[in-house]
Amino acid sequence: MFTRSGRLQIKAARYAKDARPADPDCACYTCRTFSRAYLRHLFAAQELLAFRLNSIHNLTFYLDLMRGLREAIERGGTGAYVAGMLERFQAGE
Ligand SMILES: [Zn+2]
Repeated sequence: MFTRSGRLQIKAARYAKDARPADPDCACYTCRTFSRAYLRHLFAAQELLAFRLNSIHNLTFYLDLMRGLREAIERGGTGAYVAGMLERFQAGE
């Protein structure tokens, strides 16, 4: 999963009891409704719902990213926006 603080390998064991949303800064249905632990469980159980919820989140992430870029372009430049996104994305959690 793509989050504002980097890629999230939801299958990792460290999320087995993690009650936080996949991306705390995301307003999508998946992040508002389900914990990392539950998403991890769905993947481990090979439930198709895991892919649907993952897609809902990732599409929201990309839409938010593009919205931010459009707004940065309208303000006259993308440099600061891209630098800020990359800094957070590469820093991870
Ligand atoms: Zn989300």
